[in-house]
Amino acid sequence: MSSPLRMTRQRQIILQELRAVKTHPCADEVYEMVRKRLPHISLGTVYRNLEVLSDQGEILKIEITGKLKRFDGNTRPHYHLRCLNCQRIDDVPEHIHFNFDASLNIATGYAITGHRLEFVGLCPECSEHHGQRLSLKIQSHLDVRPSDV
Ligand SMILES: [Zn+2]
Ligand SMILES: [Zn+2]
Repeated sequence: MSSPLRMTRQRQIILQELRAVKTHPCADEVYEMVRKRLPHISLGTVYRNLEVLSDQGEILKIEITGKLKRFDGNTRPHYHLRCLNCQRIDDVPEHIHFNFDASLNIATGYAITGHRLEFVGLCPECSEHHGQRLSLKIQSHLDVRPSDV
């Protein structure tokens, strides 16, 4: 009899594929990746296994308001950078540290157990190719008043 934590071959392949990339794919993209090795897998199976893997702490689920969920095979604590134009997500290099928790604990009295932080802006490609135009569009999108800039 299989234990509930036994990893099926499908789930193992999903995990391997996700850990092999740094692109933080959404479920549909994971589906396209694993289909090369599992031609008969269904999108529903991929969705379900991604949820199980994230419940088990094997992968991270990145939730972006109003957008598709994205998945991350890197479970070490790290931050993300998200491009507002192409929705690319990169990892902040691990040598960059932010020490919020200790000082916030003192300032608020909360026993802080963690934090989430996402940096947004334009990725190198987007800012190089259409930086000026896009940053204006994004500013109006974010409803930044010109007087604040
Ligand atoms: Zn971009
Ligand atoms: Zn990441």
